[in-house]
Amino acid sequence: MKDDKGLLIVLSGPAGVGKGTVCGALREKDTNIEYSVSATTRSPRPGEEHGVNYFFHSKEEFEKMIEEGRLLEWAQYVDNYYGTPLDYVKETIDRGKDIILEIEVQGAEKVKERYPEGTFIFLMPPSLAELRNRIVGRGTETSELIDKRMTVAKNEIDMMQMYDYVVENDEIDKAVSRIRSIVTAEHCKQERL
Ligand code: 5GP
Repeated sequence: MKDDKGLLIVLSGPAGVGKGTVCGALREKDTNIEYSVSATTRSPRPGEEHGVNYFFHSKEEFEKMIEEGRLLEWAQYVDNYYGTPLDYVKETIDRGKDIILEIEVQGAEKVKERYPEGTFIFLMPPSLAELRNRIVGRGTETSELIDKRMTVAKNEIDMMQMYDYVVENDEIDKAVSRIRSIVTAEHCKQERL
């Protein structure tokens, strides 16, 4: 029996683990997967574009989106709000396409409450030292922010039991192929239902 709904896939993992890079590589290989563009109140990093990387909003605009129920989930991370616009996710899975939400763990918990049939994947760094190297190497954060992100990262790693799958990001290609295998397996599971 063929399912006609797409999969809602949540990809979490500490900031700096390489979720963006993994998603970028996945995007090239798998054209059947769409990506949710989140809303945020943080400022754009160099090269980031409104509507491509994020929808950049003021705090007031973001709070209005919360009030109007336009977010599937939202969370405060370090000093900013982040949230997933609901309509695009709904419309994508309804037309049979898979969608990936690249979000942190508090948001993932909220999605799990609303959508327990989703597929929850946690991307793990090879080590915390490697994670710090990656964040420092990105060169976009002050040392105070790096410390805050490392504290959050440790708390996030403690939450990984709530995910269906844990994928180590030791090498991008390997991580991408593991995620593609998970997506294939989840489709086979759906077809059996
Ligand atoms: P960054 O500022 O590095 O782009 O993102 C910080 C963290 O927020 C990352 O862990 C990222 O996955 C997460 N994030 C991005 N968009 C969303 C969202 O829509 N909802 C939630 N809960 N987290 C998000």
